[in-house]
Amino acid sequence: MKTSIAIIGAGIAGITIARELAPVADVTVFEKRRGLGGRMANRRREGFSFDHGAQYFTTRGPAFRSVADEAVKSGHAANWPNGVHTLSSNGLAPDNRPPEPRFIGVPGMNGLANGLAEGLTIHRQATVASLVRAAKGWSLIDSEGADLGRFDMVMSTAPAPQTIRLMPEDFSGREALTNVRMSGCFTLMLGFAEPLDLGFDAARIEDDILSWIATEKSKPGRTDKSALTIHSRNDWAESNLERDRGEVQTAMLAALQRLIGKDFSKAPWIDLHRWRYANVDKAAGQPFLFDTALGLGACGDWCLGNRVEAAVESAAALSTMLMSRLQGD
Ligand SMILES: Cc1cc2nc3c(=O)[nH]c(=O)nc-3n(C[C@H](O)[C@H](O)[C@H](O)COP(=O)(O)OP(=O)(O)OC[C@H]3O[C@@H](n4cnc5c(N)ncnc54)[C@H](O)[C@@H]3O)c2cc1C
Repeated sequence: MKTSIAIIGAGIAGITIARELAPVADVTVFEKRRGLGGRMANRRREGFSFDHGAQYFTTRGPAFRSVADEAVKSGHAANWPNGVHTLSSNGLAPDNRPPEPRFIGVPGMNGLANGLAEGLTIHRQATVASLVRAAKGWSLIDSEGADLGRFDMVMSTAPAPQTIRLMPEDFSGREALTNVRMSGCFTLMLGFAEPLDLGFDAARIEDDILSWIATEKSKPGRTDKSALTIHSRNDWAESNLERDRGEVQTAMLAALQRLIGKDFSKAPWIDLHRWRYANVDKAAGQPFLFDTALGLGACGDWCLGNRVEAAVESAAALSTMLMSRLQGD
């Protein structure tokens, strides 16, 4: 009988391990949200489309580059943006850094995960709340106390502060998990009735509150309706995480008005998302965590760095190790 492996999380790391191991193990993915992709997220509301998490990904290693190229061929990814301006109180400056291919998911940022997930067994809206030792392996219990099944091994791809809450006290990776630092981010989403041209597709922002702005309509495969996605700085989000959402929204709109001279407080669609764990400030510094005796492992961007590619590389490293164990069984 094949080894049964539960994977917690259907972000890019979870989908990557599931794809790698599916040919040799009995793999089941549990995802707490309805959609796949985790922080490679897309939200559609009132005909507007917003990539409210990761903005684009780059591929500095050949393995992820070939995944991205395949996804472009199959229509699950595309190149965007050509350039990233810099927006500050001095105005708009063009991108003068060396060109590097940048990719996004299609038709939304989650398109990459959706494409890679085809054929996998994934339980959506299934939050793993605890792991309970079973006679052999682990039973997964959901947030309602229901039993999600028994598995020989469990791999968590949830952000480190969430993974640590799931792992038992004697998990050997506990210290590495404790050392990881992640920070939050607020995302402001604005939708417009009329076409809007700010003169750029995307811009890094030099400001005390804001860090990024993207025009959604400039992306391949999106809707025709004009929409903006704006990220706060991580340090500002950390200082304002528990603040009233209305106040956060007002502060972000005021900062945007200072930068581009437009008052968007009456935009027909305004929404705000809070990411509690958005970006990695301090990574674990090892490709993955695995406790041989317990049959528990963990991976994700927080192992190696602050990028989609770091999540994929971490998941690929854990999969390679597990493959050799399973094939040696
Ligand atoms: C605002 C923002 C902007 C970013 N910009 C960029 C960028 O421009 N370029 C870039 O390369 N990267 C960017 N990133 C980072 C990038 O999104 C991440 O590095 C990458 O998506 C992490 O993938 P992952 O699979 O490791 O984790 P995640 O995507 O977080 O996946 C973890 C999954 O686990 C699920 N989960 C958690 N707990 C449980 C549980 N108990 N039970 C079941 N499921 C659970 C979550 O719902 C989630 O789907 C950005 C992130 C954010 C938030």
